Amino acid sequence: MSMTSADIREAFLAYFASKGHQRVASASLIPGNDPTLLFTNAGMVPFKDVFLGDEQRDYVKATSSQRCLRAGGKHNDLENVGYTARHHTFFEMLGNFSFGDYFKREAIQYAWEFLTGVLQLPKEKLWVTVFTEDDEAYDIWAKEIGVPTDRISRIGAKDNFWAMGDTGPCGPCSEIFYDHGAEVWGGPPGTPEEDGDRYIEIWNLVFMQYNRQADGTLLPLPKPSVDTGMGLERIAAVLQHVHSNYDIDLFQALIAAAAKVIGTEDLTSKSLRVIADHIRSCSFLIADGVQPSNEGRGYVLRRIIRRAVRHGNMLGAKGPFFYRLVAELVTQMGQAYPELVDKQSVIEQALKREEEQFGKTLERGLTILNDALAELEGSVLPGDLVFKLYDTYGFPMDLTADMAREKGLTVDEAGFAKAMDEQRQRAQQASNFGMDYNERLKSAQRSEFTGYDQVAGSAQVVELFAD
Ligand code: ATP
Ligand code: MG
Ligand code: MG
Ligand code: MG
Repeated sequence: MSMTSADIREAFLAYFASKGHQRVASASLIPGNDPTLLFTNAGMVPFKDVFLGDEQRDYVKATSSQRCLRAGGKHNDLENVGYTARHHTFFEMLGNFSFGDYFKREAIQYAWEFLTGVLQLPKEKLWVTVFTEDDEAYDIWAKEIGVPTDRISRIGAKDNFWAMGDTGPCGPCSEIFYDHGAEVWGGPPGTPEEDGDRYIEIWNLVFMQYNRQADGTLLPLPKPSVDTGMGLERIAAVLQHVHSNYDIDLFQALIAAAAKVIGTEDLTSKSLRVIADHIRSCSFLIADGVQPSNEGRGYVLRRIIRRAVRHGNMLGAKGPFFYRLVAELVTQMGQAYPELVDKQSVIEQALKREEEQFGKTLERGLTILNDALAELEGSVLPGDLVFKLYDTYGFPMDLTADMAREKGLTVDEAGFAKAMDEQRQRAQQASNFGMDYNERLKSAQRSEFTGYDQVAGSAQVVELFAD
């Protein structure tokens, strides 16, 4: 069966609606009223208070396709993008939720029926894991569903105890994997435990039972509940008979658009995959009200945009290109997300502005980096170089690390942090009243201001000298 992403989203929501679940629209990427969480990183986030019993709704079962971002905080997949077949920064999570209604048995039965009945996936390609101590889930899979025990494994807390963040709802989980086969994978035979890309996790069923406190204690939730999440792009890959998420309909369209705008022909390039990923996270962040800035969510956005711009530069892009991909994204996702259509020009303007700004220093920064690389001994980029690129040329540290990684190098993070600290101290000294004029001059020179403020520290120094 070959289905488009849109078909799959609809089939999922319709299936759970037919089982009495309320359809709930995707919430924003910015969690409402939750300062503990940077971004909505799972389908359960908008229901957090319902799980905790702090909020009542007029339904006890819900289903949604929730936009998610994993580029910071507890779940961060930014470094996986471009390296695995299955990770994005932005993705859609299909979910079904029970707020004290059904528990493990029905959650497992629904998932199995949807995968093997509605989507007609071959049973022998599905593998499952359960939490080590969860005999109940193990028995449901083995005895009631009939999954052969050689395809069920028990896994420890790292992968099979799900938590939204350091505090909040959590519980043991059961993950369902699809075996893409030895041929497409090409690596060692392996098992789902090995976290590779042959057995790809498609669906996670979380048995929500606890509320984790700041001190780590687990308090029971008012009622055992269910939270599940299936990555739309991953199940689309399975149904479209491709291995990588980046080969599904939606990503192929974005990749083709990026290749056209940049003027490159190799559609398999890793940089195109990264750009196609990043246009989604950046556009949705802006649609949800975030603007590039030097702190918090805005800095995450800025970092992602700059990574995309750097990848475009690598492919030979001349001038701003990233903002020109918004149109294709709107074509692909505007129907499911009308807010994207409404905000198209806001998104384009914000991206273009950021590209133009970074474009001014990107080339020079790259020259500095390449000169340094030519002379580098060892495999670690020194912290003061990473800091100079950051402070003077607007290269976020993770961007430099991304470039280093392509060359098999790492960056000296501790050295970078130290240089940051020293600069902060200089800025503080500079703002001390009665400071010696020559000292002020020195600290301003060191920050080598080049037209825009990248960090709070240099912004302060610039302000000081503006009057
Ligand atoms: P993995 O182990 O592959 O990183 P996960 O266990 O971290 O996945 P969950 O937190 O269980 O993922 O999220 C539920 C589902 O959301 C996953 O089963 C997967 O289908 C999907 N998903 C998770 N992270 C991503 C991502 N970065 N990009 C695309 N889909 C994802
Ligand atoms: Mg993960
Ligand atoms: Mg996992
Ligand atoms: Mg999981």
